[in-house]
Amino acid sequence: IADFSDEALQRAVDEAYAEFKDDQRGENADYIPILAEVPSDLFAVVIATRDGKLFTAGDIEYRFSIQSVSKPFTAALIMNQQSPEVIREKIGVEPTGMPFNSKLALAVYEQRSVNPLVNAGAIAAVSLVEANDEAQRWELIHRNIEGFAGSELAILDEVFESEYSSASSNRGIANILFNDNRLYADPEESLRVYTMQCSIGVNTRDLAVMGATLANGGENPITGERMLAAEDVPELLAIMATAGFYDESGEWMFSAGLPAKTGVGGGIVAVVPGKFAIAAFAPRLDEAGNSVRAMEAIRHISSALGVGVFGAN
Ligand code: GLU
Repeated sequence: IADFSDEALQRAVDEAYAEFKDDQRGENADYIPILAEVPSDLFAVVIATRDGKLFTAGDIEYRFSIQSVSKPFTAALIMNQQSPEVIREKIGVEPTGMPFNSKLALAVYEQRSVNPLVNAGAIAAVSLVEANDEAQRWELIHRNIEGFAGSELAILDEVFESEYSSASSNRGIANILFNDNRLYADPEESLRVYTMQCSIGVNTRDLAVMGATLANGGENPITGERMLAAEDVPELLAIMATAGFYDESGEWMFSAGLPAKTGVGGGIVAVVPGKFAIAAFAPRLDEAGNSVRAMEAIRHISSALGVGVFGAN
């Protein structure tokens, strides 16, 4: 990309990696028991550009569960199958200012599951995918995420078992939504496919390419596959900008200035529209469930390159 030399991009990645490599703050997620066992010191940083170049540092091959970083991409699938308007009408696009699994938000925002990037809206999004049965629902969601990543991705079975067997909170959310006519398929099916979606294994490079597909107007820069209509990309990035970090979404935009999505597996992907994506992975999370070092690394790069969407941060 014209604005930045390859050297400048690699330097930004290397600096972010070196600066935060030894940062020990935060704790692995443990409400999904298996996530507590992921080696906490892992750390990776990747930039993927809209013309398909990769700049990397650290443990970029390590596969972790995608968790909530999957959520915008399933929202994209609904935009594809139906329209962005369906997301607004049937889920909502309002940030909650509340934790990722909040039931209070469901009561406050009656008639909506709130937005597709918190658990309630993401389970509703899974239920909104047009499919004949559970197998096809999963197939469409899985294939869509593989298309964004440009690689074959398998479920991490241990993560799925651990999460599905301890999913009482999400099961409660699915049932509240169903009761309020805000779920569009069977609640247990929606919960199960949602949990499978969250258990997909990715590495940091995969996340970066997923983001680069959005930076490239919806076309995967490695495979050339169109994953989202160019005119729908701004709506998706708007939801990421306002709700990608749960109850830390305001803090994030204030400090990093980039639409992004986090997951409790420790992954984050941020998008510099029209230019590149920055992905980072580190398992230790802060109180809101966001990876400490991944946030720091992305903020560092955003600031070093002056790419915040509102101007140089
Ligand atoms: N699968 C996780 C859950 O439903 C996703 C949460 C996250 O990544 O923030 O609790």
